Amino acid sequence: MIRRVPSLLAALLASLMLAACVRAPVESMPLVDRDEAALRLTADINVLASDEKAGRQPGTAGARASFANIEKRMGEVGLVSGTNDPGSYWRLPVDLVSTEPQSAQLILGQGRRRVVVPDSDAAVYTPRRRALAIGGPGTGVPVVFVGYGDGSVLGDALAGAVAVMLADPGRDGARRDALFRQRTTAVLTVVPDAEALARVRAQEERPRLQLASEEQDTLAAYITDNAFANVIGARRWQGLKAEAGTDALAPLELNLSVSLEATSDRREFTSQNIIGMIPGSQPGSGAVLVLAHWDHLGECGPPDALDRICNGAADNASGIAMMLELARRLKAGPALGRDTYFLATTAEEPGLLGIRSFVKSPPLPLESIVAAFNLDMMAVAPAGSPVGFIGRGIDPQLDAAVLAAVTRSKREIGDQGLADSFLQRQDGWALVQAGVPAVLLSSTYGSRSILDPFIAARYHQPDDEADGIELGGAIDDLLLHEALIRQIGDPAKYPAPAKTGP
Ligand SMILES: [Zn+2]
Repeated sequence: MIRRVPSLLAALLASLMLAACVRAPVESMPLVDRDEAALRLTADINVLASDEKAGRQPGTAGARASFANIEKRMGEVGLVSGTNDPGSYWRLPVDLVSTEPQSAQLILGQGRRRVVVPDSDAAVYTPRRRALAIGGPGTGVPVVFVGYGDGSVLGDALAGAVAVMLADPGRDGARRDALFRQRTTAVLTVVPDAEALARVRAQEERPRLQLASEEQDTLAAYITDNAFANVIGARRWQGLKAEAGTDALAPLELNLSVSLEATSDRREFTSQNIIGMIPGSQPGSGAVLVLAHWDHLGECGPPDALDRICNGAADNASGIAMMLELARRLKAGPALGRDTYFLATTAEEPGLLGIRSFVKSPPLPLESIVAAFNLDMMAVAPAGSPVGFIGRGIDPQLDAAVLAAVTRSKREIGDQGLADSFLQRQDGWALVQAGVPAVLLSSTYGSRSILDPFIAARYHQPDDEADGIELGGAIDDLLLHEALIRQIGDPAKYPAPAKTGP
């Protein structure tokens, strides 16, 4: 599950919550079977959340050992390849780029005067190892003032230019991107003050992981209003800003020399989504997809902590363990009509990157997936807890099937507002955006009295360790998924959605 900016109010409310009433375990299978399931889940969680796996950060040895283990376990539970590629049995490669800013220099000048703008007033960023742009009189690269950079100033005239843009908080990110799409050489954004520059730094100066296919080649500089006025002249700058506020602004070439340089620590590497499947008995009748992310944060404790490894036992060794146990159980029972795919995704934590890669080049047609079930942070709640239903309201047929299965299992749907708040923070969201009905059903998101103590004490911290997991709710959720997938995997019980269009 990916991070969100924490809310003080939510933390305050959490501390005021009373403990939930926890009911007896769901009586849908004999007790001994629950114990056996718990043993198998624990064994897989112990392996993936061990210190040896070092927090499963993509691009590390611990990550490679983790997905190698998942491949081995997929084979052991009887899955076959889901890649649809004879050259790659379990692996769907995901090309990633990690970047972290290193150094920067901004030099501005007018006439013979040159000013090296100090770090306190300027910042420059590029995803390249090194990027340099020189513009202004005599360079062939015009330096062009574009006001707030909104639509009216865009055009071919900006190709190759260095654009100087006024910050407009909340909107300038998209406008900068639009300027880069116009093939500007660089964009220099003038921010109001040192505080605004500090916010830019906080945002930009973190290591960043992206899909190689989504990376933009950019050179972006920032300067405080004061520092820019000092170079260009206060009165001239006031006049330009006044023009920027009118509708009639046309791109205006400035008599200004600019030299921008930035370097970045850059690494390209390939991580892996891992996919297996159980072939259905009725080929061509569609597929059910079960997914869980295998990655976590690596080391994330404070630099001086004794234990810095974020083991990610609940997040999301538990989801992988449940996916493997689900696969084992489905394989052991009568064959389903539809194919069932089991996808372990990489790079969920840095922004759903693995699943977005899957959506861009899926090994099966996305339209053939009748339902997807994401498993994320599954081992938090005790048995008998309500079901958090993330993704409710997206597909009426799937909603109805889920609600009926929850009722049959003698459980209840939990706090819907709480579940809804997680919709965009999990892998299923990328599927929903691609038109695939995807839900996340978990006792973890059923009530704040269960979720909030986990978020406060263990979520994305070194204490999310194997010895802290709670499997009661996980086993309830495992049985719910098994029942649902047995129904949805049967074309007679769950017809494929009608195809629209010609
Ligand atoms: Zn997470």
